[in-house]
Amino acid sequence: MNLLSLNGVTKRFGGLTAVNGLSFDLLEGETVGLLGPNGSGKTTALNMISGYLRVSGGTIALSGDAISRLGPERIAHRGVARTFQLVRVLPSLSVGDNVLAALAFRQTPLWGKAAAAHIDTLLADVGLAGRASQPADSLTYIDLKRMELARALASDPKLLLLDEWLAGLNPTELRAGIDLITSLRQRGITILLVEHVMDAVRALCTRCIVMNAGSKIADGPTAEVLADPEVIRAYLGD
Ligand code: ADP
Repeated sequence: MNLLSLNGVTKRFGGLTAVNGLSFDLLEGETVGLLGPNGSGKTTALNMISGYLRVSGGTIALSGDAISRLGPERIAHRGVARTFQLVRVLPSLSVGDNVLAALAFRQTPLWGKAAAAHIDTLLADVGLAGRASQPADSLTYIDLKRMELARALASDPKLLLLDEWLAGLNPTELRAGIDLITSLRQRGITILLVEHVMDAVRALCTRCIVMNAGSKIADGPTAEVLADPEVIRAYLGD
């Protein structure tokens, strides 16, 4: 069954068409890469799916219901979570309180002990077990990324949008990061990831969608897409 469907989705910024008639479906449980050179419209597409930007045209549906007119909170309540290219943290708060703030995005709120227990579970899931009381601004970069993922998972998402979540990690951290995303996939979460780290794309994505200059130029099994001459040309900037 289709979890997400984009149909002719377009975004214009003044005279610039950042996303041009983008259509694709995500099946429940898929992990799909959204690729393309810088400026091709990937982040804009994630921003429209998560409601941070309104579509200029076209429709976005989640499990068959149109979400393209909803704002970010309502889309989050329906089970869409995301991470941002630049990690968003509340640096003056503890790790646990950063995750607590994200519990507001749950459809069914949690309070008191139930909230604290859920935060502990979320932190353990991302490899930050027992770190709830640590100040967020004392975390290393990889641990900040882990915390950001715990925040995204706080709403029990059906669909997780990752915007270059693996960028800037060293090889050991990258391995750990890939294992972490794999564990989310195994839990049945559908994942759409914008990613430039090709080893990660190969390890994680069964399918890839490639954008260039706002339009989709490829959509298929990862190995085929990465060998597609048009995709290679787009990356080389021909
Ligand atoms: P990608 O994520 O593939 O690097 P983006 O979606 O960030 O691409 O950007 C696509 C195009 O839209 C770029 O030309 C970018 O400059 C432009 N763009 C993105 N956001 C805005 C905005 N808020 N206002 C104006 N132009 C924007």
